[in-house]
Amino acid sequence: MGKTAVYPGSFDPITNGHIDIIKRGLGIFDTLIILIGYNPNKSSLFSVEERTEMIRGVIVDDKRLSVDSYSGLLIDYVKDSEACCILRGLRAMSDFEYEFQLALMNRRLDRRVETVFLMTGSKWFYCNSRIIKEAASLGGSVKGMVPDSVLKKLKVKFPTMKNNN
Ligand code: ADP
Repeated sequence: MGKTAVYPGSFDPITNGHIDIIKRGLGIFDTLIILIGYNPNKSSLFSVEERTEMIRGVIVDDKRLSVDSYSGLLIDYVKDSEACCILRGLRAMSDFEYEFQLALMNRRLDRRVETVFLMTGSKWFYCNSRIIKEAASLGGSVKGMVPDSVLKKLKVKFPTMKNNN
């Protein structure tokens, strides 16, 4: 059986930074499960269904990739799916502290599951779903930071968003 990793995140929405991590993750693992983690009590811009649809739209036709959603404890999902690793991306120092704590907690919960980090592609250092949403909501263009199909969905949410840089 090949090696499977779970790539969890909120993906609200999926960005080119996420896609870079997914592509590079496929160079290491045989299969990758992109897992939309959600908290039913927290609000998000896009529903889980919309996020799933957007991800499916950009990863078409790769049998090694699948998309799922989950609101429980990540490590339980990883065990149930028989994955060996959690894949995460690292951007700035601010990511580091949180990711470090998360990885240590997950390791405490199950020592057999490793967290593998990929350093961000330099183009995507500042590519962050939250900042993208903020800029788009204020009318700024985020072209080039998200796939064009996602750009269209953002335009529906934020009609004043500009289309180019
Ligand atoms: P965000 O932090 O942009 O809201 P997520 O919570 O969906 O995104 O992040 C899921 C995972 O992807 C995290 O490990 C996060 O550090 C990583 N990630 C997000 N954007 C990037 C990026 N531009 N480059 C590298 N990793 C990223």
